[in-house]
Amino acid sequence: MTAVKSYAAQNETSSLAPFSINRRKVGPHDVQIDILYCGVCHSDIHQSRDEWGGSIFPMVPGHEIVGRILDVGDKVTRFKVGELAGIGCFVDSCRTCENCKAGLEQYCEVSLSATYNAYEQDGKTPTYGGYSTLIVVDEKYTLKVSEKLPLAGVAPLLCAGITTYSPLRYANVGKGHRVAVLGLGGLGHMAVKFAASFGAEVTVLSTSKSKEEDARKLGAHHFVLTSDKSQMEKVRNHFHFILNTVSANHSYSPFMNLLKTDGTMIIVGAPPDPTTVPAFDLIAKRKKILGSMIGGIAETQEMLDYCADHAIVSDVEVIDMPYINKAYDRMMKNDVKYRFVIDMASLK
Ligand code: NAP
Ligand code: ZN
Ligand code: ZN
Repeated sequence: MTAVKSYAAQNETSSLAPFSINRRKVGPHDVQIDILYCGVCHSDIHQSRDEWGGSIFPMVPGHEIVGRILDVGDKVTRFKVGELAGIGCFVDSCRTCENCKAGLEQYCEVSLSATYNAYEQDGKTPTYGGYSTLIVVDEKYTLKVSEKLPLAGVAPLLCAGITTYSPLRYANVGKGHRVAVLGLGGLGHMAVKFAASFGAEVTVLSTSKSKEEDARKLGAHHFVLTSDKSQMEKVRNHFHFILNTVSANHSYSPFMNLLKTDGTMIIVGAPPDPTTVPAFDLIAKRKKILGSMIGGIAETQEMLDYCADHAIVSDVEVIDMPYINKAYDRMMKNDVKYRFVIDMASLK
């Protein structure tokens, strides 16, 4: 065991504070990573405040992890000491169910080991995330990271990146599609970059007027302030897809009206409470609602390689570890442009 510095929430009302965790010894198939950066996802807030229920404490959040390999087990074949590596939202899964075999490990039917707020495959060892200086993960669940891109901007690709890349690919979004991105935060700004890169005409739907200029810089062609009735009216029956990244409770209804016949609302945002969807929102123009959660290991690697080839990274504000509670407060005010990333040197 190695004692490792981290930041943890002790319960759903406590702020995050320094905490010591133990990482396992490097096993034959393991990769040990010196964590350099970790992105801050809104899911870290939901879970550390137990907004989804069932949180496991103490909790060390963080699932957008990049760093350099310090050690590898003797059976490891794909990684070498000194290389960059990434860890996303899960560190293991059953490996035998239909979804695991199909490369959809994120939908493991038996026992997904999320990177934190979960248990290892033994069902009892808690997993701790990337708000820490070191992590040990099986090479099968470790991603290759290019040396070509600025590393702090790569970290958010491990969750915000794959969570938006995967459903856009699944839906074959590209040329000829009008795509709206609802909510311009960590996920939203990656969705804009990917949808534009895939050739779609992209509109940002936002509550924040101040983000209009940024939306265009990120690659959006249009911007709609959702509180402005006349702007909303202009995009009625307009979009083939809406990618909904909103983190807070809200009604889908005003946005369902913006979809064309056969249009799809893709839900990736995970607000704490359920919402109701009137049947007429769906039946009137044969509309669909599609959910999607992160992505499998192979697709995450495909996304990282795509980003390296197309020079796509997240727009980040790099922070020190002790700033994390202020960062959470700012995210609750939609004040992040567009992902906080922790420089882990600040914890070493
Ligand atoms: P974020 O950076 O905090 O961005 C969320 C954005 O939602 C805000 O910037 C804001 O955009 C909009 N928003 C917030 N409150 C709103 C409200 N009351 N009404 C309307 N819009 C509001 O969060 P994130 O990290 O991108 O995560 C977004 C959501 O996705 C979270 O619920 C998170 O848990 C979830 N998530 C899901 C997956 C998955 O696998 N499906 C993966 C990661 C995260 P504007 O300022 O533009 O309005
Ligand atoms: Zn996340
Ligand atoms: Zn499985």
